[in-house]
Amino acid sequence: MTDRYAVIGNPIEQSKSPLIHMAFAQVTGQDIDYGKVLAPLGGFAQAVDAFRAAGGQGMNVTAPFKLDAFAYASDLAPSAQIAGAVNALKFEGGRVYAENFDGVGLVRDVRHNLACTLQAQRVLVLGAGGATRGALLPILAEQPAELVIVNRTVDKAEALAALARQHQGGHVPVQGLGYEQLQGRQFDVVFNATSASLTAEVMPLPSSVFAPGALAYELAYGKGLTPFLQLAQQAGVTRLADGVGMLAEQAAEAFLWWRGVRPDTQAVIRQLTVPLV
Ligand code: NDP
Repeated sequence: MTDRYAVIGNPIEQSKSPLIHMAFAQVTGQDIDYGKVLAPLGGFAQAVDAFRAAGGQGMNVTAPFKLDAFAYASDLAPSAQIAGAVNALKFEGGRVYAENFDGVGLVRDVRHNLACTLQAQRVLVLGAGGATRGALLPILAEQPAELVIVNRTVDKAEALAALARQHQGGHVPVQGLGYEQLQGRQFDVVFNATSASLTAEVMPLPSSVFAPGALAYELAYGKGLTPFLQLAQQAGVTRLADGVGMLAEQAAEAFLWWRGVRPDTQAVIRQLTVPLV
């Protein structure tokens, strides 16, 4: 019998998850069906209940339901606990297992697809929302030289830095700062985990933050050269990336978790890449 999976969100039409997972199923020879569920706002639990009752075995969760999924789960993995949000669910008997693969997908993209190391590098993360929360522990696990989180609302950056320090035992120096405190600082890897690019907004980032040879990584994907990537390019950065690889890698992690086999992501990344021009 064909096993059923789906991505749930609102809106959901734009989601690439069905395309990605069906491509993975094809290359790994897995017999699955992967659809889209549009849940009404406030109707997450009912929609998931219905999907489970119809035999569904797992779901990806996208905006705005990552917190609803956190509340719905019976068994939260550490990645989901730290992120305070869930992006993948697995249904087994009466249990609802929950994970957050966004951060591990990001780090895997950097390491395996971009062939960059985070170890001993000075890492800057812009933004202190859900994506940053999910990325904190996977980034720290790579043992960077330091991790700085910068946010427009500085309190949130400080709170996430405190959370990160608490969970990694103080081996890597972690700071939460405001943008104005970046003057005179340089970083080898700069992640833009703000949602500013979704609306083409420019954040007050000094172009001097990029160290020679730096990687500038935009978590949003399919937007071409965003204001952040333009700023990096104008500052002389030649290693530019967007989040298409992160999207594919978090999907691959979910696929592995559900099906026990890791799909190769290269074909999917090629298919979904929008050139950074
Ligand atoms: P959230 O809404 O949780 O957080 C948004 C963050 O952006 C906040 O820290 C907010 O600051 C900051 N921000 C928004 N506008 C501006 C601005 N104009 N200037 C400076 N800071 C701003 O979003 P997420 O964390 O869920 O998503 C962040 C990004 O990551 C999005 O682009 C999203 O598409 C991308 N993403 C990519 C994934 C992938 O697979 N490639 C997966 C998940 C996310 P403040 O706190 O001050 O409001």
